[in-house]
Amino acid sequence: MKHPPIEPWYCEVEKAEIQPQNLERHLTACSHCLETYQSWQEVERALLRLPLHAPTSGFANRWQSYARVRSQQTQEAFWNWSVGLVSVALLVIASMVTLLILFFDSSFVTEMISNIIRMLSRLPLTWLQLRYAFTFWLREIPPYWIAAFGLFLYAWTILPLGTWLYAFIKFTSRGVKPS
Ligand SMILES: [Zn+2]
Repeated sequence: MKHPPIEPWYCEVEKAEIQPQNLERHLTACSHCLETYQSWQEVERALLRLPLHAPTSGFANRWQSYARVRSQQTQEAFWNWSVGLVSVALLVIASMVTLLILFFDSSFVTEMISNIIRMLSRLPLTWLQLRYAFTFWLREIPPYWIAAFGLFLYAWTILPLGTWLYAFIKFTSRGVKPS
């Protein structure tokens, strides 16, 4: 006996190719198909008996409140950092002022200031000396060593930068492309 497809007929009546009358005629004759049909009816009844759960209040705009909380947290973190940095700067300035007031009359401060001024006045000279030493040594180094060092430096800047760029592109493209 040729059995008609019960599932397509029962689940999607519009698409089914078999006529309802033909199916009913078959069901009276075939116990196998009748059983399948009744099982599907049982499934439908069971599905309809399931209790409906109402969504908790504010389900639709929960992400909005979440976004609001997140932006508030970011702002709070920003303010905390700002206040912390400002208070650290104030503490440093206050301690410097206290030190200056405490040692203002002593020779310590004047010595320190004169030392700083002397250092600053010597700075151009030392810079020139530095440059001279650098160029001198540069002329002494064999040229292939410079090339090797350049290659080494190049490799060690390109390698992490390339890795980072690759990872960045990978992660960003994975976020956009559906795959
Ligand atoms: Zn049948």
